[in-house]
Amino acid sequence: MSEYTALSDLGEFGLIRKIQENIKLENASTKIGIGDDAAVLEPGQKNIVVSTDMLVEGVHFDLTFCPLRHLGYKAVAVNVSDIAAMNAIPTQITVSLAIGARYTVEAIEDLYEGIRIACENYKVDLVGGDTTSSKGGLVISVTAIGEVAAGEAVLRSTAEVNDLVCVTGDLGGAYLGLQVLEREKQVFLDNPEMQPDLQEKEYLVQRQLKPEARMDVIHELKELGIKPTSMIDISDGLASELMHICSQSKVGAAIYQDKLPADPQVLNTADEFRLDPVMCILNGGEDYELLFTVKLADFDKLKNHPDISIIGKITEASEGVRLVTPSGNTFPIKAQGWTHF
Ligand code: ADP
Ligand code: MG
Repeated sequence: MSEYTALSDLGEFGLIRKIQENIKLENASTKIGIGDDAAVLEPGQKNIVVSTDMLVEGVHFDLTFCPLRHLGYKAVAVNVSDIAAMNAIPTQITVSLAIGARYTVEAIEDLYEGIRIACENYKVDLVGGDTTSSKGGLVISVTAIGEVAAGEAVLRSTAEVNDLVCVTGDLGGAYLGLQVLEREKQVFLDNPEMQPDLQEKEYLVQRQLKPEARMDVIHELKELGIKPTSMIDISDGLASELMHICSQSKVGAAIYQDKLPADPQVLNTADEFRLDPVMCILNGGEDYELLFTVKLADFDKLKNHPDISIIGKITEASEGVRLVTPSGNTFPIKAQGWTHF
């Protein structure tokens, strides 16, 4: 007898009831949550922003090293990050699952524990979803809904020449965390007796497994009286996101290599893997930091900020999107992004 419960023992409605049990609603705009044919929201005069992201087992996550609880957390965090990137406040999410036959009730409860903790941290209400079986692995699709005062949403397409280019936190960590986890997985597969060696890699592994949406920065910019002129979250890498802002805003940019923020673990580990650290910082994905532009006049408010780096400036489109090295050489930045295809 397994100590785990087969999903078929509980059934779809039993599972939904279990999910519903642990939900408490926080936001005034949530009128009806889980349990009816649709949720009912009452946003008042605000603008509503909506974003969806899907995570597919074997494509976006590997359960060998990603605990389900972390996966649940990450599925919510990456969606909240998209709402943050609009300068909006997340208020509700829906979660849709396609579940493979080998998943137990306990496994799905772990996943929802992560979802619940993320909902609590980001103050969002889980108001619905859908549950179905899958012939293959696990698929999680989260839709996030957020609110922003009319006219306050920040787009990718509104950066202007002479704006400052800013980035939150540090970059390259999540990508190198994945390299570390993949290496340890291989070591384990070759010799299951071996314990994973993650010493001095905690930061990187945490960046990969438990990314945070930068809602703190959204609130702080509001308090500082700064409205970014454009913004995007960094899911595919700085280079790729910068290209999105520049092409959609019809501008160019100059980014200074020595201003790029990186944790010491990123620099050491890149070295260890014989990777170019600048490449990791520019093209490593999944850091979920914010890339945004501000007016030059906001420089003084941001110049000493411990968690925001001013990495460059917006230029005319004709100057292209360039990286300026410490010696003053310039290179065109290309978006490598990561493609899952
Ligand atoms: P319907 O057949 O009308 O689609 P469901 O039985 O799928 O209804 O869903 C019943 C209620 O449970 C709805 O409010 C739905 O949003 C919610 N729900 C279903 N699956 C999930 C899930 N995985 N997570 C959260 N809520 C869910
Ligand atoms: Mg349904």
